[in-house]
Amino acid sequence: MDRFYVTTPIYYVNDEPHIGHAFTTLNADAVARWHRMLGEDVFFLTGTDEHGLKIQRAAEENGLSPLEQADRTSVRFKEAWRSLNISNDDFIRTTEPRHHVAVQQLLQRCYDNGYIERGTYEGSYCVSCEAYYTDDELGEDRTCPIHKRPVEHMVEDNYFFKLSAFEDRLTDWLTNSPDAITPDGYRKEALGLIRQGLEDISISRTSIDWGVPVPWDDGHVFYVWYDALINYATAVGFGSDDARFEQWWPATHHMLGKDILRFHCVYWPAMLLAAGIEDLPTYHVHGFLLVSGEKMSKTSFNKISPTAMVEEFGVDGFRYALLRDHSFGPDSDFSYESMLSRYNSDLANTFGNLLQRVTTIVGKKCGGVAPAPRVDSPVADKAATAIAETIAGWAKFQAASGLDATWRLAREANELLSETEPWKLEPGPEVDAILGDALEALRIVALLGAPAMPEAMAAAWARLGLPGRPEEQRIADAAVWGQYPGGVTLPEGEPLFPRLKAT
Ligand SMILES: [Zn+2]
Repeated sequence: MDRFYVTTPIYYVNDEPHIGHAFTTLNADAVARWHRMLGEDVFFLTGTDEHGLKIQRAAEENGLSPLEQADRTSVRFKEAWRSLNISNDDFIRTTEPRHHVAVQQLLQRCYDNGYIERGTYEGSYCVSCEAYYTDDELGEDRTCPIHKRPVEHMVEDNYFFKLSAFEDRLTDWLTNSPDAITPDGYRKEALGLIRQGLEDISISRTSIDWGVPVPWDDGHVFYVWYDALINYATAVGFGSDDARFEQWWPATHHMLGKDILRFHCVYWPAMLLAAGIEDLPTYHVHGFLLVSGEKMSKTSFNKISPTAMVEEFGVDGFRYALLRDHSFGPDSDFSYESMLSRYNSDLANTFGNLLQRVTTIVGKKCGGVAPAPRVDSPVADKAATAIAETIAGWAKFQAASGLDATWRLAREANELLSETEPWKLEPGPEVDAILGDALEALRIVALLGAPAMPEAMAAAWARLGLPGRPEEQRIADAAVWGQYPGGVTLPEGEPLFPRLKAT
């Protein structure tokens, strides 16, 4: 069986879960669900990053140990993902013993291979980023380019990873693997970073103790970023179960925001090569969600909680609108108003009304017993195109384009009804044919829409009188025109997506 390993970044445990975290995590969840429906063996990982100075300081302020601090805050991510129906197979915390073992083994290998050396580091350090900046990276008045706050001058004895040794190999990898990073603009961006020249990077600290100890030198801990990246290897058995790691690692897909491209797409593959791991991950990078629109701009971005959006739109309404409205790649405007309009047009109108109308007419014209579709239906070719384009969209990690293609089929079915007006016709073969086609279109939309809206599409599936859940089907078998069985009695029910008004 094909394997598929997909990850989100592990989120910084001190952050409140916000809409940006939700965007990456939801996309990864939908992609994971899609691959399960392809029949692949899927492992989906998310988690929290729990080391570093910021957490040590927050713990001191709250009178807690760093682990107690992390325990309290990590749970917020778990709760947020539960409220969004995220289907992760594992939730890794970098404070877990399994992770410490993996970090020490991976970096020990780099050290043994001669890619880690001792040196003195001096530079401008942003506490919030937990990163050093070079002079030309700093903003006005020597401020952090991200936080706009003054940086601190730090001098410390630490270990350096010889990143500079990997310029050629990283360049070859990105040049010879056109799909290594998608969309392609981000592959070019990573290549650009490498071509500017790579400097060796400091990977340990003596100034803090909240981190994974350097195994060959007491008093040093690994700098939070380098331990964090290794979580992806930890979760599939690196350091504890070599056979499991060998099975899963070649199937690795990292999904992430562009702000962490340098760490993920340049530093991390170099660390893997340094440790003798030749299989490098595949990357899928998205841009920033920019908050616009009246309602949202009153709240700062990092305060828009996914849970509040679920209260507005329902779990699946929110999932659909977020996935459908924003392509995975470019920067994108996020607003309450556009979410609302997407919900109302695609879910309340196009899909919800279609389902409601068709089941009502079946009640009136067919005695509540659903007819079967036509094999040679005028919708069949359009369905085949929509299915092919949906599959192509998901294959490229583009939920938005996959869903766009799927919803074109729902619109085709609506058009079929407006053109033929079966509610005006006498019961008989013509009405049966039209309704059978519409039911089949609904079946296919519920099937292909399930990774985005697992519960709502399962409810639609039941309303179509179909057994089981759409997620239990295999795309290759079920996404083919003509399978709606007919002859089933359709249950009645309330609209699945009631129209929403602006609040
Ligand atoms: Zn900063």
